[in-house]
Amino acid sequence: ERERLSRLKNTPAVTLDGQRIELQANIEQPDDAVAALKAGAVGVGLFRTEFLFMGRNGKLPDEEEQYQAYRRAVEGMQGLPVTIRTVDVGADKPLDRTPVRAGEDHLNPALGLRAIRWSLADPAMFLAQLRAILRAAAHGSVNLLIPMLAHASEIRQTLVLVDRAREQLNTRGQVYGPVRLGAMIEIPAAALTIPLFLRHFDFLSIGTNDLIQYTLAIDRADEAVAHLYDPVHPAVLQLLASTIAQCRAQGKGVSVCGEMAGDVTMTRLLLGLGLRTFSMHPSQILAVKQQILRSDTARLQVWAQSVLVAEDPAALMAD
Ligand code: PEP
Ligand code: MG
Repeated sequence: ERERLSRLKNTPAVTLDGQRIELQANIEQPDDAVAALKAGAVGVGLFRTEFLFMGRNGKLPDEEEQYQAYRRAVEGMQGLPVTIRTVDVGADKPLDRTPVRAGEDHLNPALGLRAIRWSLADPAMFLAQLRAILRAAAHGSVNLLIPMLAHASEIRQTLVLVDRAREQLNTRGQVYGPVRLGAMIEIPAAALTIPLFLRHFDFLSIGTNDLIQYTLAIDRADEAVAHLYDPVHPAVLQLLASTIAQCRAQGKGVSVCGEMAGDVTMTRLLLGLGLRTFSMHPSQILAVKQQILRSDTARLQVWAQSVLVAEDPAALMAD
């Protein structure tokens, strides 16, 4: 089976009805670009940069160290696009990996100072990361992705800081490249205000891991409620469907980069909802491609509409 899959590496991901699907890789370290290319990824859809920041006893990587890491990932992908997400650490993803106990520092870490909230709380740190990413963009095709946005004010502050980072590099006379700017849709409030995001961003990427967590009020890391963590809950499907549809209507790129994108039991549903760009762990790419090669999106679109309105969508998933 493994060998059969590996023969698919150079086969384009095209459906039976001729729809071309982009399969991108999620990476955590620059050297993961090797595995991404080996799996036949057409780019990196999510570089989780927090892995450069974690497990260092709180001593953050400076601009130069980050620049070298991002540049290595960009060069490793040999001209294919690399989507670099700004750091997603904070209460929910502690820097030193020691879990914060509820009632101590943070009452509710998943709802606390995390991701873009953490970045905006420390502009000097955030600017250093933005400059490092902009400089790496001189070496290849880079998309800059912002996690956990929910408020117009956060979007405005972020855009101001991206401009400031460019000005700082101009002042220094340092070389940098152009980036496409993207937002993660992973908070229900964001999924319900897509026009706001489409006004300000070039592309959107749906983080289903958090979108499911926050839509269903189910801690993604709590085993006691894991049975209620349901990727095909009708509410989750509504948010997914409407986000994808609004992006497509405006001709804006939209991807899913949560675990759902790499789950072969979800491939047909996501195709049916109109998704054409998937980003996943490199080890899943060939198996998802195999599903795509067997799929007819015109038929799946009709079927997905019935899943969307079903009382028990999971029952239809096996059809
Ligand atoms: C997500 O939330 O789906 C996502 C891709 O981000 P992370 O898993 O890093 O929170
Ligand atoms: Mg997330």
